[in-house]
Amino acid sequence: AAKEEGGPSFRFFTRGMNEAAQQRLSIELSLRKALERGEIFVHYQPKVDLSCGEITGFEALARWHHPELGLIPPDTFIPLAEKNGLIVRIGEWVLRAACAQARTWIDEGFSDLCMAINLSSHQFTSGNLTSMVKEVLDETELPPSCLEFEITEGILMERTEKTMRILSELRDMGVRISIDDFGTGYSSLGYLKRFPVNTVKIDRSFVREIDSPHEDAAIIKAIIAVARNLNLQVVAEGVESHRQTEFLLAHGCNEAQGFLFGKPVHPDEASLMLRAGRWRDAPARALARGR
Ligand code: C2E
Ligand code: MG
Ligand code: MG
Ligand code: MG
Repeated sequence: AAKEEGGPSFRFFTRGMNEAAQQRLSIELSLRKALERGEIFVHYQPKVDLSCGEITGFEALARWHHPELGLIPPDTFIPLAEKNGLIVRIGEWVLRAACAQARTWIDEGFSDLCMAINLSSHQFTSGNLTSMVKEVLDETELPPSCLEFEITEGILMERTEKTMRILSELRDMGVRISIDDFGTGYSSLGYLKRFPVNTVKIDRSFVREIDSPHEDAAIIKAIIAVARNLNLQVVAEGVESHRQTEFLLAHGCNEAQGFLFGKPVHPDEASLMLRAGRWRDAPARALARGR
């Protein structure tokens, strides 16, 4: 367009940037309306017990269906929501939806199920997270042990008084706490001992190493060993291959999550997974080969 107008090329460039900025702004405006328009929904990804192949629970993962742009990935809209504070409302909405879903599955007889929900640091600093969680647990009559919050190392590293107090309150209620993307932050393993944490989720980047030609699995072995010594549950994320499964099993990892066992799916499809036990195939084969 700049060429047709005969303008200098930087004008085109500037306009391009304006368009990008404009699109960002327009996405942000539509994100504000997304909740009330019912465009935000939740997909569920199974976690599997490596020793028996059973589904232990699901992670709730937020999705946004934009009316014109289609599906916008959480890696795009969650950071945006964190920047403008909307994450507090979105986070509460996801929590309510996931707890209602957990209630449904528990009523169907899957009573040991654990529902994992991601929390952003903003949810610790604004509003009253503890009482909101309590309220949702009361409303859904969900045992607190069925609920697990996934937080990043960054939240622990901030070590603000309020965050630490809330984590302790949640733990005292019986809610489980898990460290997500473990190994990508700056925390040391010994650090874990001082926090009220139940589970460590090893980041996908370390799991990927198991299959790489220059396999460097030293870190993942160390994480599993130390976490187990601290009596923490160890979950591997991003498991895509049988080889990774066998390795994790051999080194004492408790649970796994990844495309091999199931992608994040609509609740109806997750229900089918639970009822049909379709998930048994993959880990069972890997287990048999690992023996
Ligand atoms: P996360 O909590 O680490 O979630 C795991 C991400 O890895 C998910 O991406 C999942 O789809 C993907 N994943 C799982 N297994 C595999 C695998 O085998 N291979 C590969 N390549 N990827 C796999 P997703 O759903 O796009 O979510 C991205 C991130 O967005 C999440 O990372 C989480 O940090 C954030 N997020 C999603 N929903 C929420 C939410 O409700 N609240 C907050 N605060 N953050 C959320
Ligand atoms: Mg997570
Ligand atoms: Mg993760
Ligand atoms: Mg991750």
